[in-house]
Amino acid sequence: MDYPIRLPGKPPVVLKGWGNLPIELLAAVAGVKPVVHAWLQEADEGYLKDLRAGLGLESLVYTKQSGRLGVMIGARKEHLRETAEVWDKPESNPGPNLGYPACCSKTYCGWIDDSRTDREDYIYRIHANTKDRRRLPFLLNDVFYLYSRPFKPGLPEAREQIERKNANLPMNVLNVIPWHPCSYRCAASLAKARKIWKLMNELLPDLAAVVKSTLAKPVLFWDWDRFAVLDGKVLADGTCVYGSVLPPFSLLTPRAAALLAAGDRARAREGVLEVRRGSQKLGEIAGPCLLLDFVA
Ligand SMILES: [Zn+2]
Repeated sequence: MDYPIRLPGKPPVVLKGWGNLPIELLAAVAGVKPVVHAWLQEADEGYLKDLRAGLGLESLVYTKQSGRLGVMIGARKEHLRETAEVWDKPESNPGPNLGYPACCSKTYCGWIDDSRTDREDYIYRIHANTKDRRRLPFLLNDVFYLYSRPFKPGLPEAREQIERKNANLPMNVLNVIPWHPCSYRCAASLAKARKIWKLMNELLPDLAAVVKSTLAKPVLFWDWDRFAVLDGKVLADGTCVYGSVLPPFSLLTPRAAALLAAGDRARAREGVLEVRRGSQKLGEIAGPCLLLDFVA
């Protein structure tokens, strides 16, 4: 899907739905992301010119590799040059220029350096870093944002399956911040998120409505390909009372999906999710699971 926008005093321009690029560009226009890095085709140089004009940004092609252009896009040329200089250098961290808050960048790098090969999804780390877990700001919901999550075999295929299952949803732009927060209470990420969210509402209100409808809900999270968004509310004891399971739909087993559909209460306990209908226990779904209480 493409997203036509028009900034005051600028020619209209289309944000092409290439991965998470529309959100990244919104973050650049909102002033929270000095540099956006992208790979484009050589044939897209004309489009790059349109982007510069329509968004009031600069661009820098720092490399050409077999018909592909490595591009930095942002408000100030010196930031683009600085980032291009360190981009391919080992041990360099262009995080600040990419707009990641220092706390989030540090936490993420610490997790990457964690050499365990069976590393659980980064969402578990963010959740563990979150002290007050009730009523989390949906602006920081990164459950559907796949970038910089651990690579797992079969990920591209499974993600395609999820996209086919949710063909009416723009799965690759269901996020407000194009990075992972260090916790779901990170003040620095939240301040930046608010700026992006304001701009998204002004320029792309339809997309903002879809983003909010998917992010501002409690979500059960097992892994990047297994989650369930609930139309419900989390009580003080950690039980989610819900009406139904909402899109986007994931790759839960048919048994788990049927159990959640039959229930109206879910509670994550140590290593297991318990599902009830009223006071009657219907069953359990084994394995660690988080109930993330995102609200509007
Ligand atoms: Zn942070």
